[in-house]
Amino acid sequence: MANPGSETFDGGCTCRHVRYRLTSRPLFVNCCHCTWCQRETGSAFAINAMIESDRVRLLAGEPECIDTPSNSGKGQIIARCPKCHIALWSNYGGLGDVLRFVRVGTLDEPDHLPPDIHIFTASKQPWVKLDDGKPVMKEYYKSADYWPKESLERRAKIFPPR
Ligand SMILES: [Zn+2]
Ligand SMILES: [Zn+2]
Repeated sequence: MANPGSETFDGGCTCRHVRYRLTSRPLFVNCCHCTWCQRETGSAFAINAMIESDRVRLLAGEPECIDTPSNSGKGQIIARCPKCHIALWSNYGGLGDVLRFVRVGTLDEPDHLPPDIHIFTASKQPWVKLDDGKPVMKEYYKSADYWPKESLERRAKIFPPR
């Protein structure tokens, strides 16, 4: 890869009404094994690529933003296709739409963005065996301890230190 900064990743919903492009690599990819993610995906975990909202470019359609309860109690906005209702990304905690958690399974080639970390593994399904060498957190983690320096610098631009 000559210029990793120029990488893009396309994705969309099942009916193809909504199409989007990540215009760079994400900041970090969480694989979340919490019970909320298990319920929301109907599966054993969710894979969320965190990326600045202005790096998610809509190519077609306009997602519908659904106010949804979240584990934190602060709520989350889940962006869904208005036709097939597949969830594409969410943002959390009343922070506004500056950081999106893009559902990696909606990318055309999700294998390009494997997890960087496993979180909330205290509630992991026991048959899920983690042997990808990535950090395993019983609950959450401090991004300063795990994110690459470049990602922390990018994040500081959208969340200036208080
Ligand atoms: Zn759709
Ligand atoms: Zn979760």
